[in-house]
Parts: sequence; C-alpha cells; structure tokens
Amino acid sequence: MFNLIAGLHQFKTEIHANNEEFFDRLAQQQVPDALFITCSDSRIDPNLLTQAKPGELFILRNAGNIVPPHGNQIGGEEATIEFAIVSLGIKDIIVCGHSQCGAMRGLLDTELIREMPAVSAWLDYAQQTKQLVLSKYHKLDHEAKLNIAVQENVLVQLEHLRTYPSVAERLERNEIAIHGWVYKIETGEVYIYESDYQQFLPLIYEDGHYHVDLSKVIQPSIQP
Ligand code: ZN
Repeated sequence: MFNLIAGLHQFKTEIHANNEEFFDRLAQQQVPDALFITCSDSRIDPNLLTQAKPGELFILRNAGNIVPPHGNQIGGEEATIEFAIVSLGIKDIIVCGHSQCGAMRGLLDTELIREMPAVSAWLDYAQQTKQLVLSKYHKLDHEAKLNIAVQENVLVQLEHLRTYPSVAERLERNEIAIHGWVYKIETGEVYIYESDYQQFLPLIYEDGHYHVDLSKVIQPSIQP
C-alpha cells in the first residue's frame, strides 16, 4: 500500500504538474476513441497495451471480460456500455480477453471456484463458452482448452453485446463496430478476431499499414 501512496505523490508533483495544460483539457470533457471491455486481471493495462493516453479509452472491467446479455437484471455493465455509446458517442467497442485468465480457469474447473458462489454465479454468463469447449475441444489438453476458452469467451461476449438495443440499433445502421481481441501476456501480442477466417490472428505492421497476419491462418483455430 505504501507504494501506491508514494505513487499518488509522484503523480501529482511530477506528471500532473508537468502536464497542466493536458489535464486542464481533460477536466473540460472526455472524448474517448473506444470502449475497452476487459478482465480485471492486474496484469492487463489497457492504456499501456494500446499506448492510449488518459481520456482515450473508456474502460469496463470485470472478472472474465463478461457482458451479461440484455434482459438480465440491469447491472453496471449494461449501464456503462449504454452510456459509452449513447452519451459519449463511442464508435468502437473492443472485448479483450487474455492468456492465463483465472476466470476462464474457474469456468473450466469449478473446483477452483467452489468457495466463491458469486464468481460461480457470474460465470454463468460464460456457460456457452464452457459448453463449446467441452463439446468441440474435449480432446485437447488443459492449457489448450484454456486458450480456446479465452478466445471463444470473447466471441460469446460479443454476441451478448449484440443483444443490447443501443448496440443492435447502431450496428444495424453501421454506426458502430465491435471487435474481439486476445492479449497474450507472455509475448505482448494481441490477436484480433478476423471474421472472414473465423480465427484470432496476430497483428503485424507492414509497409506503413497494420493488418492481421494471414500467414498464421490455421484450421482449426487453436492459437494462441
Ligand atoms: Zn482474466
């Protein structure tokens, strides 16, 4: 805890004090580029990962980067998403899962969450992910199953996003786009879901452009 308090002091006296104009502008308004939905896992830093500055990412985090489908009890997730697109006019929504996800581990091995009834209930919103992994990928070893669960869960949560009226209407009118990403902590890579190939593919930079690395297309999708 001491480190955090020391950090507050360092932030105010060094970073904030040296960027007063920037923080003055931020105090007037926020105009974020994207809504970034990811896991609460402490190893993910969305701003570090994307090199976004304060004010550029509107962030929603919870265990397992879950988006409860519309029609369930209104919770923080739906309210946050609605605010992001209706009030802030955000045009891109990213759901970003990650390697070594404890929530996905718990989803696949319920023994790990036996003493956590709230986590267990929360992960009901990812049951579709579990069923898919168990039915299609039951022969894979545990780590491979975990990787698949991380990927499939991003897709399941993207589907849940589509159930929100505010999202569905804007998707229909092509006013917003939704994106599935998986961050691999071990390598620093981000895999992006490419619907044409139905796979998560790594991003590469080539000839001044970013695109997914099509040389990595495989069947079936078992990476990262
Ligand atoms: Zn996680």
